[in-house]
Amino acid sequence: MIDVTSCPVCRSTQVKSIADHLFSYPEDCPDPPTPNTHYEKERLWIFFNYIARSKEPQRVKARLCDTCGFIFTSPRLTSEEIELKYRTVDSLQSAKIRAEKNPPMRIEKRSERIRRVVEKSLDRILKGGNILDYGVA
Ligand SMILES: [Zn+2]
Repeated sequence: MIDVTSCPVCRSTQVKSIADHLFSYPEDCPDPPTPNTHYEKERLWIFFNYIARSKEPQRVKARLCDTCGFIFTSPRLTSEEIELKYRTVDSLQSAKIRAEKNPPMRIEKRSERIRRVVEKSLDRILKGGNILDYGVA
């Protein structure tokens, strides 16, 4: 994990902690999680077993950049840890099984809405603009 001490957007070091949360090991989570395990417990199990590699509570801070106003978390996962997390999620097959049990609602409408947003943004992207994808799918 990386302790983020400067703003990922503008690189300012004028950042301050505005909140924090202490994550605890999910003692009541099956080891390994089953497809019936709540996804929150499963993700915590993955985090503690594969990334933190400890059952000690892990503190995560929300930081605010005083220069541009961007809010980000610290520490954050490295690219390798993110890859490991999703590889583990895939290996457990739980996300796939959950999606089969409870398929996403109105997927055609949602897909159309996303397509319209991307098309609207395409001009700006092609002219050198930037997109911040915060990945909530
Ligand atoms: Zn900033």
